[in-house]
Amino acid sequence: AKADGGGCFRLFEREMDAKVQTRRALELDLRIAFRNNEFELFFQPLVQLAGGRLSGFEALIRWRHPGRGLVPPGDFITIAEEIGLILPLGEWVLHEACREAASWPDDIKVAVNLSSEQFKSGAALAGAVTEALSASGLPARRLELEITESVLLAESAETLATLHQLRALGLSVSLDDFGTGYSSLSYLRKFPFDKIKIDQSFVRELSTRSDCTAIVRAVADLARTLGMATVAEGVETLDQMHALRELGCVEGQGYLFSRPVPAADVLGLIHDHQTV
Ligand code: C2E
Ligand code: CA
Ligand code: CA
Ligand code: CA
Repeated sequence: AKADGGGCFRLFEREMDAKVQTRRALELDLRIAFRNNEFELFFQPLVQLAGGRLSGFEALIRWRHPGRGLVPPGDFITIAEEIGLILPLGEWVLHEACREAASWPDDIKVAVNLSSEQFKSGAALAGAVTEALSASGLPARRLELEITESVLLAESAETLATLHQLRALGLSVSLDDFGTGYSSLSYLRKFPFDKIKIDQSFVRELSTRSDCTAIVRAVADLARTLGMATVAEGVETLDQMHALRELGCVEGQGYLFSRPVPAADVLGLIHDHQTV
């Protein structure tokens, strides 16, 4: 048994070594990737549930790794935050998203995800946004910034000030992944958001769990009272779309409408959507 345990431990050590090495390699690769322009934005449409109009696209980052292929953000955003790469990477995303959106029809918006690290930089963030808008010529009203609930946990006077500063630029701010974090409905009264994005975990369980239905209805009702719109994420079926519309969600996003597509496919998608 003793030999066994030792063997297991050595195996464990080797696995740890392998994990540490993979992680180190990924960190190094990430820094090089930024210099080599290996990042790309994909875009996924947001669709109005009543009437079906396409109202905008969310920009979603991808890493085109020379060896690994297309790497999803879940595999590298946290590391980019930890090694301090998220600020330059986030600025790149802002510039790229605004530049692309400037070539779309004027009634189509673009939504950009912000890391809480970017949000914490406050005035620097407002500066970066202003620069991305002026460099691209995109009117501020066509830009939406998406932040998650984790941002709201920070010092609330500063958070509030940053939110006001951003909205004063003329853009809109959405609360992303609503329902997954620590915030409650009371946050919606306290912070000025234009949109609430209801997390896909609620949408997925709509038909099987009545509490999900109740939550979505409560969020949509309160949001409407406060003058905010609601977006349902992860809409995959027609049944979900119909249920969400009944519950008062304004917009939907998900594979039912389209997967995220490369920038080159956006105009085609807008055109096809209009002619459906
Ligand atoms: P998110 O902001 O909640 O983005 C929605 C995610 O759900 C995307 O995953 C999208 O591809 C996926 N999705 C969309 N529709 C469906 C559906 O019908 N079913 C299912 N199962 N999934 C759907 P993705 O692109 O892998 O992005 C993951 C997360 O990475 C994002 O979650 C966001 O938090 C983060 N992220 C993406 N791009 C950026 C970025 O430019 N900057 C920062 N800071 N974070 C980003
Ligand atoms: Ca988002
Ligand atoms: Ca989300
Ligand atoms: Ca998410």
